[in-house]
Amino acid sequence: MKVMVPVKRVLDYNVKPRVKADGTGVDLANVKMSMNPFDEIAVEEAIRLKDKGVTEIVVVSIGEQKSQETLRTALAMGADRAILVVSEDRVEPLGVAKLLQAIVAEEKPDLIILGKQAIDDDNNQTGQMLAGLMGVGQATFASKVELTADSVTVTREVDGGSETETLTLPAIITVDLRLNEPRYASLPNIMKAKSKPMAQKTPGDYGVDVTPRVTTLKVVEPAKRSAGVKVADVDELVAKLKAMGVAK
Ligand code: AMP
Repeated sequence: MKVMVPVKRVLDYNVKPRVKADGTGVDLANVKMSMNPFDEIAVEEAIRLKDKGVTEIVVVSIGEQKSQETLRTALAMGADRAILVVSEDRVEPLGVAKLLQAIVAEEKPDLIILGKQAIDDDNNQTGQMLAGLMGVGQATFASKVELTADSVTVTREVDGGSETETLTLPAIITVDLRLNEPRYASLPNIMKAKSKPMAQKTPGDYGVDVTPRVTTLKVVEPAKRSAGVKVADVDELVAKLKAMGVAK
């Protein structure tokens, strides 16, 4: 059984984003970039499914040349093969989903595991769009995954608790934070990953037009929060809330 995991190179989650002086976007020059944290969870889950009948894990990234590093990280964690679709320009979720659809048509994976969202743009769209384009079942925000030969049962995090769904393969899962704790790649595995196969493609190879359909007008820093007030005890807190009309 083959699993495909799309992974995105994003600003590291520990880095405080800074907006470019001209307001056209976030400044990514000379800042640490890493694999999107939800995608690490997706790769980890695919590796854990190797005990449950998964024989090959293909990781895919659409992005600048440097996304090679992200794919190498996934290979060092335990993925088998990588495909990089090089685009130095930002590709929107619909473009990414169309490219993934074309790769799926070639690779024919039984299961595709994505992150629930990329932490740079917080779109939370790609998995859903890919499921729509492919016409297959999707289970988003997975917190538990159980695989059989022809189906996958997924527990999903929803507002009121959790929901369990069974999907016929091929299917799409997007993963949430509580699904697992991703492993760190060991040094020997990092060395081994250097010789694992990585194919390089372009959007043109798949005949996909990735011209953006959304124009970003302006990017601004969030408004600074004013300093809070410390209260001595609960009585003072309640008195202040009453004075503000928030409590009775
Ligand atoms: P998004 O819809 O942008 O929030 O991304 C959701 C998920 O889609 C991510 O966690 C990745 O698994 C996948 N994805 C999004 N953009 C890319 C990309 N450029 N390359 C590979 N995978 C991506």
